[in-house]
This record gives sequence, C-alpha cells and structure tokens, in this order.
Amino acid sequence: MKKIFSLFLIISSLPGIAQNIQTPLQKNSYSKPSSYEELSAYVHQLALSSKLLNVETIGQSAKGRNLYALKFSSSEFGKDKSKIKILLFAQQHGNEQSGKEGALLLAQELLKPENQYLFDRIDLVIVPQMNPDGSEINKRLNGNEADLNRNHLTLTEPETVALHHLFDKYLFEVTMDVHEYFPFGDAWKKFGYRDNTDEFIGPVNNPNISENIKDLANQSFLPFLKKYMADKHFTNFIYSPGGPPGINYIRHSTFDINDGRQSFGILNSFSFIQEGINGKDSFADNIRHRAEGQMTGMRGLLEYAYLNKEKIKTMVANDRKELTQNTPGSIISIQCEHVSNGEKLDLPVHSYYSDTDSIYTVVDYRPVVKSLTDIIKPEGYLIPKKLKDVTDWVDRQALKKTSVNLTSSDRIEQYKIEVIDSIDFEGDNIVNPSVISKDYPSQISSADYIYVPAAQLKGNMLVIALEPKSMLGLVTYKQFAYLLKAGEEYPILRVVKK
Ligand SMILES: [Zn+2]
Repeated sequence: MKKIFSLFLIISSLPGIAQNIQTPLQKNSYSKPSSYEELSAYVHQLALSSKLLNVETIGQSAKGRNLYALKFSSSEFGKDKSKIKILLFAQQHGNEQSGKEGALLLAQELLKPENQYLFDRIDLVIVPQMNPDGSEINKRLNGNEADLNRNHLTLTEPETVALHHLFDKYLFEVTMDVHEYFPFGDAWKKFGYRDNTDEFIGPVNNPNISENIKDLANQSFLPFLKKYMADKHFTNFIYSPGGPPGINYIRHSTFDINDGRQSFGILNSFSFIQEGINGKDSFADNIRHRAEGQMTGMRGLLEYAYLNKEKIKTMVANDRKELTQNTPGSIISIQCEHVSNGEKLDLPVHSYYSDTDSIYTVVDYRPVVKSLTDIIKPEGYLIPKKLKDVTDWVDRQALKKTSVNLTSSDRIEQYKIEVIDSIDFEGDNIVNPSVISKDYPSQISSADYIYVPAAQLKGNMLVIALEPKSMLGLVTYKQFAYLLKAGEEYPILRVVKK
C-alpha cells in the first residue's frame, strides 16, 4: 500500500501531468466563457502542477480584480540572456472572450511534454485577461469606462500601467495583443459579404518603427503563420479593417501608437495584434473553434520565435540601439495617411447570398502608411514642472528624465501656435495646429523645468507624444487639449544642437 502511494506521488509530480487540468471553458463543456473566479482558480492550480510556470499578480483592475501574469521559464525568468522574451496578452476588450479562452488553453498546452522544448529558448509571459471588470459583464470598456486599447500612450488606467510596468522590467523582444473582430455588421451585410478569416494578424506599421521589423513580419512571419495555421485547419490573413468596398477603403491596422501592438512596436519590438473572429450573437457562439483559433495563432508565434530566435534577438537589439544612441537629428513622422500602392487585395469573404466562401478583390486598398509631416528629432524636451499632469505622464511612462543641464552648444526652441485647424485621421477629425518654431527669447530658469532626453528606448514615442502638431500626440487627448491655444506659445520646449 505504501509503495503504491509513493508511486502515485512520483507520477503526479512528473512534468506534463498538467494536461489533465481542464480550463474553465472545457469544464463547462464550451457552454460559457470562464468567469474571473474560475480563471483565478485555474491559473493557480496550473502553476502548482508544474515547475515551468509561476503566476504573479502584476496589478489590479479599476474595480480591484487581480491581473495575472503566467510566467513560463525553464530557469529563473529573464536571467538567461540567450533566451528570447515573449509577452502575450489578451482581452483588453472585455466582450472579446475568445482571446482569454485561447490564452488559458495555450497555458495548458505549453505544459504538455511535447511542447516543453520551447522553453529551451523562450521565456514567456501570458497575461490572459487584461480587463476582468469588462469580462465579467461582457463589456468592451474597463471599470472606469475607458477603452484600454486606446490607453497605451496616456496610461491613465491601472491595467495598462501594470502591463507597461511588466514590459519595462523585462523588455520583451516579441509581443502579441489578442482581440476579436466583428464581421457581422449591417454595412457589410448590405454589401452581401463579410470577412471570413479565423485569425487576422496585424504587424506594426507606424513609419517610425524599424523597417527591418516590418520586413521580417510581412515577408517571413506572416507566410509562416498562414501555413502553420492551415496545417491545423485554421485560416489566417493580414488584418485588413475598413470597408465595405464602395463605401470605405480597406487598410491595415491603425498607425496610432496608443494600442497594445504599436505601443511596444514603437520601442522596436517584434509586435503584433491578433484578431480572432467574433461570435454571431452570443459570447459563447462557436467559442470552442474561436478559442482554439486564438490559441493556435499564439502558438504559431511561439514556434516562429523558437525557430528564429537569434535573428529576432539581433534585429531587435540593433534597432533598439538606434533609439538609445544616436537619435537626435533623425527624422520623425508626426502626421500620416493610408495610401494605395496600386495593388489590389484579394480578401477572403463569405457570401450572405450564396452562403459560400469566396474571395473579393478590393480595388480601393491602401496598404501603405505615408508620412505627411516630418520633424527633426530634438536632443530632448524641457517640460515646465508646473505642468503636473505632463510630468506625471513622464513618470507613468517611466521615461528617463534629468535635471536641466544645458551647455553652450544647446539651443532652445519654442513653438508658437498660430491657428488650430483639423485633419482627417482614419475617418476622425482631429486638431491640426499651424505652428512656427523660433528661438526661446530668454534664459530659462532651470529649477522650473525637467529635462527628458530623446536618446532613450522610448525616445520616438516621446517625440510623437510631445510635438504639438503630432496627430498621435498628447494634445489630441481631452486631458491635454489645453496645451494648444491659438495665438499662444506651446509650453513644452525643444532642445537642439546649435
Ligand atoms: Zn479588441
């Protein structure tokens, strides 16, 4: 009897036994998504079952629910510099349940013996549920009524702050933000077709992000993922929002840097958004296929990163060096638009009329992000200490800052806001001030300012955030709109070399 008991102990402590722990969705026979309580119990149970996994609470939601990070490592997380660090996060939008379910399935999958080879080369964090408050009531926004996926620049919400704090700690080379898209809208129904892709994948496209990263994503990873998913009977296509044709153009993801994909992309990370197909009318509709599709896309990224670890690590390290070293004097795009390059897009669709899958050739297709306005990157910015909400923002973004210590080779520039016009930004009208730049007329009092250098990892983000004419800048947010006043000087100063 004693012998049998100890044998049982040995078996239950073997790696791989975790595959017997079901996700809440599986336990519920795919009838309803995991609740926050079920998710909490599951991730802790899973962590107890394997040495590869630790669960950490990285923060709390607006309403005080825990945000969990599932840290997978075969050694001490983040310590082995030869490994590639990957961050996957899901369900920023609480009514997009399949990302969370896919992440929970993936956690289980990764502990199976046949998948553990990944951790020879990868340290992985999965944050399965960014928005537990929204999830509990199947609602897009968080507990403060904020859209978390528009909050990665201003970082006013506890959920995005927690995620960026986690990122800053480990500087993940690869990230993926997992969402759902809704193809069943009325405009498309009227058009007669709808999007018909299990998993859309969106690479970075802001013009200020390294071209190397975009090239590797578009030319190497996307074809890899398409095949990887097809082998597992899922369809995959580059994320192509907009339309329907005839009413609106089709483009790729936003060039804004306030989302989960591009806020890490602007730090020259190998970053993506994944958009799984939403359910038709209820959040449990087809949830098994949707969750498995989301899992398979994430798993495909892990496989690619495993196979291309050295290439990605070297590329990201070099492109980040560009940001931290010789940046002043380089060109930064602060206004852009989506334009055509003459190509047409063969979009996978489903016909409402014939109830069959088909391909629709989109003529008004604008895949290129073109810069409309470039500026020269300064050495840094002088921010008046009395602009407390801007200096607080500097702290939330964990930007490097120093006290003011200018030399005789530095020159201070100030913008005057002449008139405030508007410009189209992906269908919205936003502020477009006319500005003139001039030398600051007098000495500044060092004690009144903080200095934020542009040569840092977040340097391009800093410039895009602080330039008054930037269509992605702080001034486009209500909270910071007061910084722009027609006929007055812009209070944040630029430091350039003479
Ligand atoms: Zn979403």
